[in-house]
Amino acid sequence: MTINEIQSFKGKYPKQLWYLFFSEMWERFSFYGMRGMLTIFMVTELFMDEKQANLQYGATQAFVYAFTFIGGLFADKILGFRKSLFWGGLLMIVGSVILAIDPREYFFLGIGFNIIGTGFFKPNISAMVGNLYREGDSRRDAGFSLFYSGINIGALLGGYACVAIGKGSMLSDLVPEALRWNMAFGLAAIVMTISLITFVFTRNSLGPIGLSPLDNHETGEKGKTWPEYLVYLGALASIPLIMKMVANTQYTDWFMYFIGPFSLIYLGYEMSRVSAAEAKKLAAALLFILFSVVFWAIFEQAGGSLSLFAANNLKGSFLGLNLDPNGVNNSANSLFVILFAPVAGLIWVWLSNRKAEPNTVVKFGLGFLFLGLSFLTFYGCRFFADDIGLASLEIFTVAYFIQTLGELCLSPIGLSIMTKLSPLRLQGLMMGLWFLASAYGQYVAGLFGASLVSESANPTVMEKLLTYTDGYRQFGIYGLIAGLVLIAISPLVKKLMQEVH
Ligand code: GLN
Repeated sequence: MTINEIQSFKGKYPKQLWYLFFSEMWERFSFYGMRGMLTIFMVTELFMDEKQANLQYGATQAFVYAFTFIGGLFADKILGFRKSLFWGGLLMIVGSVILAIDPREYFFLGIGFNIIGTGFFKPNISAMVGNLYREGDSRRDAGFSLFYSGINIGALLGGYACVAIGKGSMLSDLVPEALRWNMAFGLAAIVMTISLITFVFTRNSLGPIGLSPLDNHETGEKGKTWPEYLVYLGALASIPLIMKMVANTQYTDWFMYFIGPFSLIYLGYEMSRVSAAEAKKLAAALLFILFSVVFWAIFEQAGGSLSLFAANNLKGSFLGLNLDPNGVNNSANSLFVILFAPVAGLIWVWLSNRKAEPNTVVKFGLGFLFLGLSFLTFYGCRFFADDIGLASLEIFTVAYFIQTLGELCLSPIGLSIMTKLSPLRLQGLMMGLWFLASAYGQYVAGLFGASLVSESANPTVMEKLLTYTDGYRQFGIYGLIAGLVLIAISPLVKKLMQEVH
């Protein structure tokens, strides 16, 4: 199939989008399944104290997303998206098989494989989605919205199933107690294998998309192979290093201080090598990336402070039903994305048919406004609390709904705009940078979250309610300000983006 045939698809979505959808869905199942087990496993099975486990969890998250930058870079220069995906998927399978064999003994080794693997997989599958669309095709944002639903279906199922098997609240009759965690990690391995098989069997439908930049696609002539093997070797060689860095979170700090400035300098170098018009687009992309750091820093309270807030300060009833507040905290967002991402996609297409679709800067601005409103709603929980300080789970859930609307205006749109603003040979890099922003977001989220912990030694439930919600009010205000700033500077950013919108 030629690129022209792929991009001239009829209807709402190209069929290749569905293939990438399912590969990514299963990959996210495995990723979120794993992520959902880390902290609990470290505390209950490796006997780390909670603070240490939290720090180490944060380090793995920061690393996972930081390596997307490196994975994207090597895809652009050497491997191409397809080989990167295959290699990344393979490493993720090996990592989870190692964990399935003996999670206690080989914990950091398994995690190391998974970190590198995700780095090669995640940015490059997203970049390929963008390649299914011709420049200026208004169906692209809707395609990314659909793809984003796939991400969250995987996240929801994996996030629930793996930890439930590990803890023994699911399939406990079938799995012997001593093997529960092995099975849970094993499930991640099986599902990741399904992801990779899906990709392998469907990749030929992608025509020339994602082939190695070193090969000549016109003549079919193969390029040099040694750079490719060097990348594979380099990736394997860096695993011991990553294991060290994750185990000592102070190294993570150093790594984070280094990788951001380094990536900016590198981007500056690439910008000096492209035309002025392309450089302007990259500058606009960078602006989106920088704003997204702020977005994720607030958004990612979900895994940290909001889970403590849910555990300490929420009632366990939802419209008369008994529900675990932490369960709600972990699943509400994915559930809302699955329900509303397709709706958002259709709204964008509908508006675009009427020539009324807001441009990306405004969508980003809206994303922040919703984020701000959602945190003001988390703050509002304090007005729906009893005398002890237990607040309403319903209001909390409404806040998550609003937050998800914000995410849908920013996150899938962000993936989409990265592919629109980058020249073909820098797509992996830019997608990697987009996720690197998530790495910083996660990192800052941890620091923000830690700053919310009450000063007093033994805070009461009510004191906790007040300190946390004070913090959320602050985040809400930051969100609103960022949204207003974005909308105010939108004419300027639009200039940088030129014909892209
Ligand atoms: N939840 C989305 C995903 O897993 C976005 C993650 C992010 O960029 N922080 O792809």
